[in-house]
Amino acid sequence: MRGVLHVHSVFSDGEESLERIVQTFRDAGMHFLAVSDHAEIFDDERMRQYVALCASVSNGQFLVIPGLEFALKGGSIHILGYGITRRVRVSNMEQLVDGIHEAGGIAVLAHPPEGSINLIGAIKSKLDGIEVWNVRYDGVIAPRADSFQLLRRVRKSNLKVAAYCGVDFHKMGQAHKPVYVEVETEHLDRAGRDHQRPT
Ligand SMILES: [Zn+2]
Ligand SMILES: [Zn+2]
Repeated sequence: MRGVLHVHSVFSDGEESLERIVQTFRDAGMHFLAVSDHAEIFDDERMRQYVALCASVSNGQFLVIPGLEFALKGGSIHILGYGITRRVRVSNMEQLVDGIHEAGGIAVLAHPPEGSINLIGAIKSKLDGIEVWNVRYDGVIAPRADSFQLLRRVRKSNLKVAAYCGVDFHKMGQAHKPVYVEVETEHLDRAGRDHQRPT
């Protein structure tokens, strides 16, 4: 199954509705996508609507995974919480990552800025992933070498941390030849998560 990660819709600063985004990526041969609208403009009611919409545009053939992108440290650090179905309180980085995990999600450091290693001390051992390839920041040709370097350093104390890619989708122009992930799984649902093997 193929899917794209890190997608913004009209729920935050994206230009497209979730329905149109799903249609476009289905047409491009994808089977799932993970949305990550900006958390700052969500309240509980908006989150409830968001999660309900993700479910209503999903079926056996296509899955929309709800998620949010959180800004910390004055906006210099962005953390993606994929798979959460409720809002998570942001007081500090460590509590955010713990909150994402408690809400059943995966915490990924988005488009790591220069010097990230000095900023993420509190969550180094807790992160599930680092976005080594963010298409908006790094282009469509290749991931960023510095981000891989960061991944290697974090891995010294955190063996589960994985390399993630993300489209950072905001508008239709970015749907052309998307950077995607492939997973081996029988079912497109949360239970399938434990059986998948990223390739
Ligand atoms: Zn971001
Ligand atoms: Zn983003």
